[in-house]
Amino acid sequence: MSFSALGLCDVLLKAVAEQGYATPSSIQLEAIPAVLSQRDVMAAAQTGTGKTAAFTLPMVQLLAGGNKPQALAVRALVIAPTRELAAQVAESVKNYSNKMNISTAAVFGGVRIEPQIAQLRDGVDVLVATPGRLLDLYKQQAVKFEQLEILVFDEADRMLDLGFIDDIRSIQSLLPKQRQTLLFSATFSQPIKALARGMLNNPKLIEV
Ligand code: AMP
Repeated sequence: MSFSALGLCDVLLKAVAEQGYATPSSIQLEAIPAVLSQRDVMAAAQTGTGKTAAFTLPMVQLLAGGNKPQALAVRALVIAPTRELAAQVAESVKNYSNKMNISTAAVFGGVRIEPQIAQLRDGVDVLVATPGRLLDLYKQQAVKFEQLEILVFDEADRMLDLGFIDDIRSIQSLLPKQRQTLLFSATFSQPIKALARGMLNNPKLIEV
């Protein structure tokens, strides 16, 4: 099976080829068509399986079709447990979408908030965020979620291990109910399943 059979557009097929990826990984084979069809997805996948491309490629393709973000608005929100992962995911989004009109920002704690507020002023298509800093930005009215179309949880099990469950519930309460939600986790533990029940709507389940 090739990337071109998955429904990705030519610009993204070129970006994938430039990364040197010859064939899609198992998670990419299953997740890319599901995300493109705008279904919710719950996927169990370890780091190293190609999970980042599995959600970022179809996500940027869906965003490329829609309206641009208004001031402070975010169209896709990726929540990640650590600043390293947030920076890495934002880097992937930028790599894949460098020939597309898609804006991306990463926000996380431990650094000054003012430059992050400035980055959000005109809105962004993709925001990759750690939970605590995202809530701080919301409290400062630096970000709004009315235009949110896609929500992604990356490494959800680590997020729970790090004690972010209350932050995640707070964030969830701020987001539009009508949206596409994707959840990636190394394992499907009971707490992850409980989280998914409240966040996902008839998700396609993927285990690789
Ligand atoms: P991830 O699981 O998202 O952390 O990705 C692990 C590594 O695999 C990253 O360095 C990616 O650049 C690489 N990768 C992702 N998809 C593919 C693919 N289809 N073929 C080869 N390498 C890939």
